[in-house]
Amino acid sequence: DESEWDEVDQGVLLDDEEAPRPQPVLAVVGRPNVGKSTLVNRLLGRREAVVQDQPGVTRDRVSYDALWNGRRFTVVDTGGWEPDAKGLQASVASQAEMAMRTADAVLLVVDGKVGATGTEEAVARVLRRSKCPVLLVANKVDDQRGAGDIHDLWSLGLGEPMPMSGLHGRGSGDVLDRVLEALPETPRDSFGASSGPRKVALVGKPNVGKSSLLNQLTGEDRSVVHDVAGTTVDPVDSLVELDNQVWRFVDTAGMRKRVNTASGTEYYAWLRTKAAIEAAEVAIVLIDGSEPITEQDLRVITMVVEAGRALVIAYNKWDLVDDDRRRQLEKEIDRDLIRVRWAERVNVSARTGRSVAKLAPTLRTALESWDTRVPTGRLNGWLNELVAAYPPPARGGRQPKIKFATQAQSRPPTLVLFTTGFLEAGYRRFLERKFRETFGFTGSPVRISVRVRE
Ligand code: GDP
Ligand code: GDP
Repeated sequence: DESEWDEVDQGVLLDDEEAPRPQPVLAVVGRPNVGKSTLVNRLLGRREAVVQDQPGVTRDRVSYDALWNGRRFTVVDTGGWEPDAKGLQASVASQAEMAMRTADAVLLVVDGKVGATGTEEAVARVLRRSKCPVLLVANKVDDQRGAGDIHDLWSLGLGEPMPMSGLHGRGSGDVLDRVLEALPETPRDSFGASSGPRKVALVGKPNVGKSSLLNQLTGEDRSVVHDVAGTTVDPVDSLVELDNQVWRFVDTAGMRKRVNTASGTEYYAWLRTKAAIEAAEVAIVLIDGSEPITEQDLRVITMVVEAGRALVIAYNKWDLVDDDRRRQLEKEIDRDLIRVRWAERVNVSARTGRSVAKLAPTLRTALESWDTRVPTGRLNGWLNELVAAYPPPARGGRQPKIKFATQAQSRPPTLVLFTTGFLEAGYRRFLERKFRETFGFTGSPVRISVRVRE
């Protein structure tokens, strides 16, 4: 452990080739109370002293670094649907869907004492279609006695159920071995340049004009593309040609012909939005420019930032915006959108077609930022100068030192700072602002994570 720090300290990581690589991702899914959190803690074993100090971590989707037999991977605990919400099965299925889209392997946790319920059957149906490997764990098998009861789980069609006790640790080594077998050496590059058109989510609260805008963009079918060589199009997506480039608008099924049914409950719409953002590389958040900005608009923006996707803000219904409203809107932008002042804004009208041509260039800018990686040498040159002029504030009488930084990854750009103490949130924000002043990153969130070694 100590030696790793020494290497970093001596600047071995200065060579860009040696920068930390993205790790393969294991997503853990399952009903509430089957013991997911307990199991995740057990799998991690708290062997890694990684400080999770990322403002981007969402309440309901937390990721951790794991290390087993010398291999590193990331565990994503996809907690978070509300157990009391309507349609538990639908939301669990949607959670599994999301996991499949973003992870390299999925671990389905079932309570071994309860067995498979209708919910697990619904989830298994979704997971069986998955291209990524799925492992099935029967948790809460605390002793040999319980191990006999899990044979029923074969019926889920996900292969052999592995007995485990998250509480006592029984079976966890075997599960980890199987996880390593299932995970690829390197993560699948779900956003790779070779994977075809760039993925766009068109999101926003109900009635902001999402379907109208999509109709406008695909007007009379002239720009709807049905085939791109070598690309398979998910039937829920639309391929749209804008500005001589083909884009994949994700999860647009039912949007072009608006379905006005009772199934559009707020909760379900929320899950759809979330899944679309997860599946996309960049999101256009549509806001109704003719009405005061709402909490709901801000929540959608927060979802995009927390998911680490590039962001374009589009004010729609601009045909209804007069001078008074425009002044009010400027105030709203200063007050409510200050946190995302790095995002470009376009004022459009889905009705008249005003300025919709500006969307493609802003999408390109945002994605370019999202893809960018600042070389470690340049980054540290900049950082050393900045920290010399503005050292981090002392905490508890001790001044933290920033030893070294690297942009561990892009998509989204993520800086890792190696320090001798915690950095206050205010100072991290200051660093981000200065970082953007120098390196730009228009349209992309930037994450700063801090690893502390005393
Ligand atoms: P989650 O909602 O799926 O994340 O479940 P939790 O990890 O919060 O666990 C739910 C409950 O199951 C807690 O009371 C745990 O103590 C209990 N639990 C978790 N794992 C085991 C296990 O392996 N054996 C037993 N007997 N109880 C467990
Ligand atoms: P969605 O729920 O976000 O898909 O919103 P819709 O596309 O169904 O639009 C909601 C309402 O706003 C419809 O009555 C549209 O005709 C109207 N609308 C959408 N875009 C515009 C616009 O740019 N200007 C005006 N005046 N109305 C619009």
